[in-house]
Amino acid sequence: MKITFLGAAEAVTGSCFLVETNHTRFLVDCGLHQGSPEEDRLNRARFPFDIDHIDFMLLTHAHIDHSGRIPKLYVDGYRKPIYMTKPTAELCGIMLPDSGYIQEMEAEWRNRKNNRAGRPKEDALYTMDDALKCLEIFQPVRYDEPFQPAKDVRVIMRDAGHILGSAILEIWVDEPEAGEAKATKLVFTGDLGNKGVPIMRDPTIIDGCDYLVAESTYGDRDHVETGNDVERFVRIINETIARGGNVIIPSFAVGRTQEVIYELNRQIDIYKDQLVPFMETPVYVDSPLAVSATKIFRQNTDCYDDEARRYVENGDHPLDFPNLYFTASVEESKQLNIDPESKIIISASGMCDAGRIKHHLKHNLWRPESTVLFVGYQAKGTLGRRILDGAKKVRIFQEDIAVRARIEYFQGFSGHADREGMLEWIGAMRKKPKLIILVHGEPDVLPKFSQTMEDRLHIQTQIAKLGQSIDLGAYVSRSRLAELVLTENALKRRIVSVTAKLDELQAELNLLAEQSKAAIHESKTGTERDEILAKFKDQVQKKTEEILANVR
Ligand SMILES: [Zn+2]
Repeated sequence: MKITFLGAAEAVTGSCFLVETNHTRFLVDCGLHQGSPEEDRLNRARFPFDIDHIDFMLLTHAHIDHSGRIPKLYVDGYRKPIYMTKPTAELCGIMLPDSGYIQEMEAEWRNRKNNRAGRPKEDALYTMDDALKCLEIFQPVRYDEPFQPAKDVRVIMRDAGHILGSAILEIWVDEPEAGEAKATKLVFTGDLGNKGVPIMRDPTIIDGCDYLVAESTYGDRDHVETGNDVERFVRIINETIARGGNVIIPSFAVGRTQEVIYELNRQIDIYKDQLVPFMETPVYVDSPLAVSATKIFRQNTDCYDDEARRYVENGDHPLDFPNLYFTASVEESKQLNIDPESKIIISASGMCDAGRIKHHLKHNLWRPESTVLFVGYQAKGTLGRRILDGAKKVRIFQEDIAVRARIEYFQGFSGHADREGMLEWIGAMRKKPKLIILVHGEPDVLPKFSQTMEDRLHIQTQIAKLGQSIDLGAYVSRSRLAELVLTENALKRRIVSVTAKLDELQAELNLLAEQSKAAIHESKTGTERDEILAKFKDQVQKKTEEILANVR
């Protein structure tokens, strides 16, 4: 069996792996590379495999960096099934068309530039329509139920606790050895969630595997304790409302927004008998994608953790409360900035580079009474990062905006397991993998994570490189290699000692033969010769036994 790493190798986006067995070829994820123009070129490059020879695909979860090139795969002619959980299929149903729309908008913007520069037109990577069409090959499966997408491959998807529908893939590949039935087990963590995150169950503990392909996003750090943070979260909101300002929460539309809604509902439940300002404050979810995603989250209560299910059972839907509003039209969105009443606005994009959040920042960043409350990671180069890093002035829609609002960062939500979380999850496996292949990590994080894993778990690791193939059949672990070298050395030493003994025996036997020959020459009678021969035979036997006594 061979795995080729076609994305998320020494990078955190573009997840795509090709697995080849003796009979079958399949893909795990087909995500969009995100970030720089170089990454965009990777998205546009031809797929480095023959699409007609791919038998099926497995999708770990709906995030665009794992699913975002599926429409391109479809446009290029792929029509075989793609297996994923039901919530992942539903979330892809809104996220891929949204991605298609963004691709079309970006192509339009580039083409205006191309036109002015006299350059040829470029097509969008794919369109909203392509994204809608590709959904026809989606095959939802249930968590924990085995299925067999090819004659030599069996799969079970387990809850990864990362976003709704996210899965860890347990894959058994039949590789009979000398006619005997034998399966090699391969596990992909996908993106592995954090323990104790709202709504999501904790990542499922896996019994074990032969080979593990593990994500490494937070391989060099541990999240801070979040206990007090929730209180801080509520305090920040209350203080802002008391000053008459707005709380602007830039948030990823899928996952993080629902976690924030959940947390607000939980706090309302906790403070229900007290007079707390934010109990009366309207909360607006202002992002079309977040609105659709929240609907999907609300419908899939069977994927909730125990706490979230208790809310549902008690008749309080954890993703709903009396002052929660969803804005649909752009008009309604604009109205939020005209109305002077204090409010909480949750809007996308999470890193402030696109979407309606930019309008809310434009209308609130300059107001000292307002607060911008970040709830997610802000990548280098984004508007969110500049604000968080303390910029005094930022440019939004060709206008300079002074930053006078209170800027806060709430670390309590994190979609990925941290270093300790990963170690604990692997440590809980009954059968430890022979090799852990590290993917989905920044180049400076991976070597640190690799070292930590080897030191703490004593399992060999390998950092996957982009385009690299690892042949698991030919793979020999470092400890096994050491064993083989030892055996080889022992064998060599043995050969040397046996040869020396045989040399010694040869010399002794020669000596005995010479002596016996001389004695026979000097003998006078037949009886005498018989006695010499008998004695010779006896001496040969004794010498041989004596010299070879210690040779095994
Ligand atoms: Zn993800």
